[in-house]
Amino acid sequence: MVTDLAEVFRLGTAKARENLDFRRHLASAHVPDAPFQILASEIARQTDCIACANCCRYSLVAVQPADIHRIATHLGITAEEVTRLYTVPDSEDPGTTILRNSADGCVFLDHNLCMIYDSRPKACRDFPHVTAGTHSLGSRRSSHDRWTPLCPILYNATESYKHLTGYHPRENHTPNPDRV
Ligand code: SF4
Ligand code: SF4
Repeated sequence: MVTDLAEVFRLGTAKARENLDFRRHLASAHVPDAPFQILASEIARQTDCIACANCCRYSLVAVQPADIHRIATHLGITAEEVTRLYTVPDSEDPGTTILRNSADGCVFLDHNLCMIYDSRPKACRDFPHVTAGTHSLGSRRSSHDRWTPLCPILYNATESYKHLTGYHPRENHTPNPDRV
C-alpha cells in the first residue's frame, strides 16, 4: 500500500487516464461491485485516516436534518443553533445545506481530528463511498477522478482491484514517474 500522501497524490494524478480506462473495462466486462467493496473495506481497515484527514480538508459536506439533530444532541445545543453556527447554504447547489468550512477545512476539524466524530454526518461516515451504500466504482466517476489522488483508501483499493481483476494498463496509460 502507498501511504505517503504526496506519493498518493503524485501517482493518483498520473493515473487519471488509466483509471478512467479501468472503470470502462469494469463496465464493459460487467465486473460486479461486491469484490471491490470487500477489498476496499479491508484497505480502509488498514488505513490511518487520522494521519490523512484530506476528506475533512477538501470536502463540502452536505447535511440532512437527521445529521443536524444528531450533532445538536452531541453538542447539547438546539438544531437551530447548529444550523446557524455550523452550516451554510451551498451556493452551488440551491436547497442543499453544507457544513461551514475554511481554508483549513471543515468547521469541526481540529488537527486532523473530528470534534464530533461519533455524531458526524452520514456523508462523512460513508466517505469515500466504496465500502458503504449503493454506489459502485463506475457510478461515482467524477468523485473517483477527484478523490483518487487525495484519498489513500480509494487509491490503494483501485490499484489492488486492478491486480485482482487482471487488468493491464495499455501502454499509453502507463504513468512515467519522471514526468509527473
Ligand atoms: S481522504 Fe480517505 S484516507 Fe484520507 S481521511 Fe478521508 S477517508 Fe481516510
Ligand atoms: S464533520 Fe468531522 S468527519 Fe465530517 S468533514 Fe467535518 S471534521 Fe471531517
